[in-house]
This record gives sequence, C-alpha cells and structure tokens, in this order.
Amino acid sequence: MGGDLPLQLTLEGLLRLLPGVVGKRESVIRDSFSGPWVDAPAYTAPVVWKGREVPAVVRSGDHKRIEQWEEEIAITATVRDHFSWLRSHQVTDRERGLVRKQIPPHYVALMHDEIRLPHGFVGTTSVTSIDIHDIARSSRTYGMAGFFIVTPLLDQKKIVQKLLNFWRSESAHDYNQDRYAALERTHLVDRYQDVIEKITNLHGKPPLVLVTSARSTETTPLEPLSYHDQGRVWGQERPVLILLGTGHGLSDELCARADYRLLPVEGYSDFNHLSVRSAAAIIFDRWLGINAKLPATSA
Ligand code: SAM
Repeated sequence: MGGDLPLQLTLEGLLRLLPGVVGKRESVIRDSFSGPWVDAPAYTAPVVWKGREVPAVVRSGDHKRIEQWEEEIAITATVRDHFSWLRSHQVTDRERGLVRKQIPPHYVALMHDEIRLPHGFVGTTSVTSIDIHDIARSSRTYGMAGFFIVTPLLDQKKIVQKLLNFWRSESAHDYNQDRYAALERTHLVDRYQDVIEKITNLHGKPPLVLVTSARSTETTPLEPLSYHDQGRVWGQERPVLILLGTGHGLSDELCARADYRLLPVEGYSDFNHLSVRSAAAIIFDRWLGINAKLPATSA
C-alpha cells in the first residue's frame, strides 16, 4: 500500500471536525475518542440478524430512555475496553459516579501470614502501624471496598485491634474525620482464607486475586498483568482482591492460589526496594487512578 488509505482516514477524521462537513455537530461530538467515552453502538434493519437482536429500548421511540441507555452502554464499553483512554480525561463528578458503578468492587489484603522469611522459611511478620494508616488512606482514595489486615498472631492482633478501636470511636471521629473515614473499611482477620470467604459471602462469587511483588520473574506460573489490562479482569464480573506482602514478599504457595500477578512497579534505576505502603499507593493509582492529560472541556 502506498499510504493512501491512512491518508484518507486522516482526512475523514480531520474534515468532519470542520463546521458544515457533517450535518449534525452532535454526531461529531459523540464520535468514539472525541471525549472520554467511546460511542454507543449504532443499529439498523433487520431487527434480528444471525440471532442478534436490536435492543428493545432502541426501538422504543422514547428518546430520553434511548439517550440514557446509550450513555450507560458507552460508559460500560469504555471502562471495560478503553480504561487507559478514559483515565486520560478529567471527568465531571456525575461522570465519575457513573464510572465508579462500572468498576467491580476492589479489596486489598496486607499479608502478615504466608510470607517469605530469610533462609527459605515461610511464616508470619509483625504489623506496622504506619502501614495500616497509610494503606487505609490510599484504599479509601482509590475506592477500595475494604482493606484486610491478615495476621494469625494474638499479640499482633491486639495491636491492630487497639488502633482500630480508637479510630472507630467517637472521639477519633471528632479529632480527625478523614482518618476515621479511611479506617472505617479496615478489617482484621486471621488467615487469607477468611478474606476470600468474606468477599465471596458478600458478592456471591469469589474474588479474582492479583498478587504483587518487586520481582520481575516469579517462580509461580501466574499470568502476568500489566497496568493496561483492567478490561481482562473486569470483564469477568467478579470482585477483585489485590494482595500485598511484607517481609521478603508473598510465599510461592500463596501466589499459586492466585489468578494473576501484577507486573512490578519499576523506575529506570537498578534499585527496587519500595515499602509496602509506597508500593500500594502506586499500584492503586496505576490500576484505578485518573491520569488526565488535560483539564475537563465543556464540549
Ligand atoms: N522482595 C519482596 C518482593 O519482591 O515482594 C519485597 C517485599 S516488600 C518489603 C513488601 C511488599 O510490597 C511486596 O510483597 C509487594 O506487595 C510490595 N512491593 C514492594 N515493592 C514493589 C514493587 N516494586 N512492585 C510491586 N510491589 C511491590
């Protein structure tokens, strides 16, 4: 090919932006990739084709209902298939709420059990109060439905419970409402299996589990996920659980029970030793965060 086809496409894409080229300006504004959303699908006759039917709402003649349906379907398709595009836009508060409804519930678990220890051992680690506070705040910021702290050790549970009891008290609410709100969705459990059961009971299906690690090569044969792969996970319509490790990281046995491993967070240096709370904030932002290129437009 001599490049004529790409040139024609470029011309079509540019010329339709000129006033008068397309009859209805509205059609241009609603083109896929003109704003945060892709366009809703367009239908034509016949009503049934190869077993696929034009949705009843489209044939209802009720323009308000059709418009609402088109908006919903456009948002669903964008969240599922073009999240990287969507997140590159600043959206209104209303749109943010609509997107939120399309993202499946996400949970986080900070593991202090089933952890790699020095000399090849697997076991438990101690809790760190700053991790609890900071991961709770990051979890709330990125809309996590819950943050689980997993430790089977009685003395460690006492420390966490004391902290949670304080931040759930009335005096804590009066002292710092944001901190109170951040810790509201934090739960203390004994084992990984308790996290899975709690999420399964709430949603009627088990979560898809995403493990995290600083290592780029894992011994477990888990499918790797990049930070552009949200659609692969969200399309399965199951809750999502992100697992964070402590010590020397999550044990191989624990990883073997998961579904995916997120690629490590890396920079262009030869040092990669993030604290779990820093890693958590970056991971949440890369997986769920808005990363707008430009401020919102009124178009
Ligand atoms: N060498 C361990 C590893 O690779 O998992 C480091 C453990 S680090 C102290 C504790 C946890 O922070 C990890 O289990 C992981 O959840 C998270 N973490 C730390 N650095 C990370 C990175 N660069 N990418 C992804 N997660 C990271």
